[in-house]
Amino acid sequence: MSSYTPRGAKQRAEKAYQDYLAHIDGCAQCREEADCEEGRRMRRALRTARAALENAAEPENPAPPPSAEDP
Ligand SMILES: [Zn+2]
Repeated sequence: MSSYTPRGAKQRAEKAYQDYLAHIDGCAQCREEADCEEGRRMRRALRTARAALENAAEPENPAPPPSAEDP
């Protein structure tokens, strides 16, 4: 049995997003768009969780689609 399911990946992505929003809410630095170290780490965790979610959602298509937003 694998513990890595699309549902688990979705929960992780949502949790990462909630954590990030909660941090921004209480962090003056991030609210002024001057990322603090904690905010940067949380945004990276959010990206990772969302990438994992996309991979988990499409197990038959392991190659990630090209992204115009990422240089
Ligand atoms: Zn912050």
